[in-house]
Amino acid sequence: MDYDLVIRGGEVMDPGGGLTGRMDVGIRGGVIAAVDRSLPVTGARATLDATGQIVTPGLFDLHTHVYWGATYWGIEPDPIAVRTGVTTWLDAGTAGGYSFPGFRRYVVERSDTRVFALLNVSAIGLVAPTYELTNLDYCDLGLARRMVDANRDVILGIKARIDANTTRGVGLAPLRLARTLADQVELPMMVHIGKGPPALDEIFPLLRPGDILTHCCTGQDNRILEPDGHLKEFVRRAWDAGLVLDVGHGTGSFSYEVAERMLAAGMPPDVISTDAHQLSVQGPMFDLPTTLSKFLNLGMSLPEAIDRVTARPARAVRRPDLATLKPGAPADVAVFALEQGAYTFHDVFMTARPGTVRLVNTATVRAGTRMAPRPEPPLAPWAVLPEHQRAK
Ligand SMILES: [Zn+2]
Repeated sequence: MDYDLVIRGGEVMDPGGGLTGRMDVGIRGGVIAAVDRSLPVTGARATLDATGQIVTPGLFDLHTHVYWGATYWGIEPDPIAVRTGVTTWLDAGTAGGYSFPGFRRYVVERSDTRVFALLNVSAIGLVAPTYELTNLDYCDLGLARRMVDANRDVILGIKARIDANTTRGVGLAPLRLARTLADQVELPMMVHIGKGPPALDEIFPLLRPGDILTHCCTGQDNRILEPDGHLKEFVRRAWDAGLVLDVGHGTGSFSYEVAERMLAAGMPPDVISTDAHQLSVQGPMFDLPTTLSKFLNLGMSLPEAIDRVTARPARAVRRPDLATLKPGAPADVAVFALEQGAYTFHDVFMTARPGTVRLVNTATVRAGTRMAPRPEPPLAPWAVLPEHQRAK
């Protein structure tokens, strides 16, 4: 039978589907039809030569902010997807109960990329940069429950940002409410950490196996490592029990010192994500391939890195059917060149590390169709990087 598109001759790397090696990927009707050593291309409507390149499932970014125009952090996913291979974007709590209907109509339904959401426990979500939890009246659990129940196809979890500013004056109360909500709707909770209070050892008793701790490589005072570099004991216990450690690079949450110690101890983060937003896309985060390249240059293998942006994030939000090239799966595919050269990467403190490889996205296929470049909207007038990150 004829294919709509055959991606030919690339090195397929699909940890979720257990596929690896030089293979062709055949697509028909928007789904993966076959992955094999050599597929017939006569009669195929289109072919894409991926010789010498890496073919992966479309990437799954577990931490993004894509509610453009209505919130402080929001960007548009499609223009970035085209040049990064990210076909599934999990919006991490940009919308709350009051703003989710608009998010669904204007972002989820209008984007070519697949967009999921974590619902913010604060009904106002991230309209402003911070303080969304300081007025507990906004943690309306009844409203949040109704919103989840009406949108379970899009809402895959609950989000709570727990740091000094977001919780100012109310301590752990919003985290307790988020815990209650997540238990009631039986979905994972993603908790953001950074600068306390609350302190990390106060936050952890409220986390459960299957929850996601984002900003796990933070260099702020709520680090998951002891000063001597060992993992804090209560973090180790929670991680062993099934807590998911997610990177969420952003503009404030990726420290080379912490990441290097985690890798040196054989404890790489479970998921690599960007926290892509109005500021972080200006650098030093930039995008998911750049963030992945940082881990490759720290010694993580390419299959381990790809696992952390495909199968693992999909599993974390209970969608193992996505981000795989298994026949029958949606035909979301990314093609990358692994370029060799002399590169310099930076963490959020502008600490530099040299690198010899970088991943460069060369084609992005969503639901069987190759995405075409499109204009990126201008950044918001308030989206100004901190002084030290502007320096380079
Ligand atoms: Zn975020």
